[in-house]
Amino acid sequence: MISKLQHRRSGRTIWFAMSVAATLCCASVVVAQTSPISTGPVDPQLIEDLVAANRILADQGVLDGWGHVSVRHPRDPNRYLLSRSRAPELIDAEDIMEFDLDSNPVDAKGRSLYTERFIHGEICKARPDVIAIVHTHAPALIPFGISKVPLKPVYLRSAFIAAGIPVFEIRERAGMTDMLIRDHTLGRALADALASHPAALMRGHGAVIVGPSLQRVVGRSIFLPLNATLQMQAAALGGPITYLDPEEARKIEEREGYGLGRAWEAWKRKAMAKH
Ligand SMILES: [Zn+2]
Repeated sequence: MISKLQHRRSGRTIWFAMSVAATLCCASVVVAQTSPISTGPVDPQLIEDLVAANRILADQGVLDGWGHVSVRHPRDPNRYLLSRSRAPELIDAEDIMEFDLDSNPVDAKGRSLYTERFIHGEICKARPDVIAIVHTHAPALIPFGISKVPLKPVYLRSAFIAAGIPVFEIRERAGMTDMLIRDHTLGRALADALASHPAALMRGHGAVIVGPSLQRVVGRSIFLPLNATLQMQAAALGGPITYLDPEEARKIEEREGYGLGRAWEAWKRKAMAKH
């Protein structure tokens, strides 16, 4: 009798716990589906620069029909700006959308979103120093993600590589996948691999590159695959390669960004003139 009563009680307890869990579960779904409220309008100059960053990297062959560029919201570090799902060279100001760091859009208006937007939200969470992020599939980077040869700085424009460019192996964190960063968990795993570095290669996929401004991340995104090409060319010549010394890289990095405004103006004019 006692055991029956206890059984009934424990049954009721389980049922109660399940209903509470179900309520909490549904509540979290409702919260997740609720669109965040906009932080407010953004300086049109920043939107213009984000559009330009996309088009410059398409013009320079760093982004193809895929890949994307984001920038942290200037008034709320818990938001970022990213285009709707569109080829970078076609992006206009009206394509730019606001997201929270869980990568929920503020106002989707029925627009389709980049599947891999979680890259941006999770790196923004993990790296408060990062203002702008690029995700690229640049072909020149692929050999360094699938071999054991590390990417090393061969010339002054790519001195930032001296900080080390880790390789993200998605199999170690998620087993067999379709290689895309489709959710928070994979985004967080990529952010873990990136750690405090300026970029991380993604094995068999591409890379993520970060920086303290749009201009800097665009510069790094141009010079990273260029360095990869030059390093492979130097290796093909045979014999030892003289890379930048860490001290040389440090001295260059101290003035990184020097003259970048001049290049940015030229890159932007050329890329924007195409439309
Ligand atoms: Zn990708």
